Amino acid sequence: MTPQINPNTMTDEAKTAEESQRVGPPYQTAKGVHDILPDDHEFFTYIKKVVRHRARQHGFRRITTPTFEFTDVFNRSIGDTTDIVSKEMYTFQDRKGRSLTLKPEGTAGVVRSYLQHNMQTLPQPVELYYIEPHFRYDRPQKGRYRQFWQFGLEVIGESDSAIDAQLIHLFYTVLQDLGVADQFKLQINSIGCSAKNCRPKFVVDLQNFYMGKERNLCEECSYRLPKNPLRLLDCKKEDCTILAKLAPQMRNYLCPECKEFHGELLLLLKGLGIDYVENDKLVRGLDYYTKTVFEFWDKSQGAQNAIGGGGRYDGLIEIMGGLPTPAVGFAAGIERIIENMKACGVKVPTKDDIHVFVAQLGFNAKQKALLLMRELREVGLKTVGALGKGAIKNQLRVADRFKVPYCVIMGITEVRDGTAIIRDMKRGSQKIVKYETVVEEVMKLIGAENLDTYTPGEVLY
Ligand SMILES: [Zn+2]
Ligand SMILES: [Zn+2]
Repeated sequence: MTPQINPNTMTDEAKTAEESQRVGPPYQTAKGVHDILPDDHEFFTYIKKVVRHRARQHGFRRITTPTFEFTDVFNRSIGDTTDIVSKEMYTFQDRKGRSLTLKPEGTAGVVRSYLQHNMQTLPQPVELYYIEPHFRYDRPQKGRYRQFWQFGLEVIGESDSAIDAQLIHLFYTVLQDLGVADQFKLQINSIGCSAKNCRPKFVVDLQNFYMGKERNLCEECSYRLPKNPLRLLDCKKEDCTILAKLAPQMRNYLCPECKEFHGELLLLLKGLGIDYVENDKLVRGLDYYTKTVFEFWDKSQGAQNAIGGGGRYDGLIEIMGGLPTPAVGFAAGIERIIENMKACGVKVPTKDDIHVFVAQLGFNAKQKALLLMRELREVGLKTVGALGKGAIKNQLRVADRFKVPYCVIMGITEVRDGTAIIRDMKRGSQKIVKYETVVEEVMKLIGAENLDTYTPGEVLY
């Protein structure tokens, strides 16, 4: 077991050791967090766009809950026996001594909001989606950060296997849109409900099964056994997996309702053409799941590289103080999706490409250039100009860096003659046009279909 360090109780020596490993400039990102640089933003923008598009298509509306909540929101919903609550939360006190926590996942906040804003009075189900950063004090590794972005969808207020099927299909569609669906396989399981002979009986039998075998369990599992025995099933330590294979299986405990629900779900998934693996060791790390649990696993690396997952949480809203209300949802990690898109060589369409570069010499030319650039941008041409004092030659070097197809050049002669030079950067050819026709000429060269225009009032996202 790796020692889990709480940042609040980290010793000074540990801090110094961590700091001394750093090289380079004195100020760097904290451990486990990262900058999203422009190249990665192309991926982020594209993923967000796909998620918004697909979510809207299904009638979901966007919600953003605060970055921090009262700690109790997470303690209560996620459960204090989970890894998240027991060792991964960023918890702090505000100036009045209230305990607050950076959100480690999205569902708790959404459910808190659903109840706080009386969304149970709306026509059900309420379908919400979010795209936000989350925070967990986890061991950083490739594609895994302490501040990480997730998108998630929640359907609250109705229970039907078809809702679960549609949600899983939506997740799958997003992965298809992003070009990584083939990398992943759906793992699915039912962990039953709270009916006496369903999960509660399974949990008791599971505890009985492990009784007397504690010495064969890893340290973490022997700690989990009394409180959260389900988690023993998905432990990755070798000894634990051997025992888990012999352990009782949830499928033999499902009550008739859960059994029917799960059977229907599998049929519906088949009908939707989604391949799945029935995985009776899949329990998910969170306490609040009931019935359906699922994850999309990397076909070659298995659970180590799950891209996201979710499940049904019919008991959660009641736990959070509402009336019993069924719900289902999932979340996926954006950084991990990007890792996979890069590995698959997926090229994302970008709108960052610049159409035209304006170079100028002399103050009068600069004044005209500013006006011209404004006009070019107004018609939807993405325009960059060198506004410093550099020579034309140096300015054109900047144009090369932007890989622009065309340059407009205005020197002292052109200003005097009321003209401008349009240079085709690929061919190296150029022509002189009247200043008044520059916008029109460049528009023709770029093509009306490539203009980046925006009408006020238009929905941009
Ligand atoms: Zn049941
Ligand atoms: Zn274990």
